[in-house]
Amino acid sequence: MTGPDPTQHPPEGRPSWLAEACPPWCAREHHEQDHPEDRYHQSAPSFAPVIAALGHAIPVTDALTAVELIIRMARYVGDVHTWIAIEGTEAPEPRLVLTAESARSLVQHLEEQLDSLRLP
Ligand SMILES: [Zn+2]
Repeated sequence: MTGPDPTQHPPEGRPSWLAEACPPWCAREHHEQDHPEDRYHQSAPSFAPVIAALGHAIPVTDALTAVELIIRMARYVGDVHTWIAIEGTEAPEPRLVLTAESARSLVQHLEEQLDSLRLP
């Protein structure tokens, strides 16, 4: 008995424009009729409820509000650049799109900043 081969995702019915295997993290369904701008691999989303300040209020704390963020990784078919998108689920802002390398750098810098909270 054989199941779907994850290395051949999508296992069958591959669109003619999809000339490469999906990366292991791709959870997107690809269809023959996908618009060229929609021809990208995409990870399953992560959701992060956060308190964020949107806009340019002064003091910034006056703009704090609950926001749900959706975080996804993506890469256009045939491209070498993988990006991470961090976006609000209910509005076009906030929106931050970073290369994977930049996202790693951002995480490192956030950890450095947050580590200072732990100092006595
Ligand atoms: Zn894919």
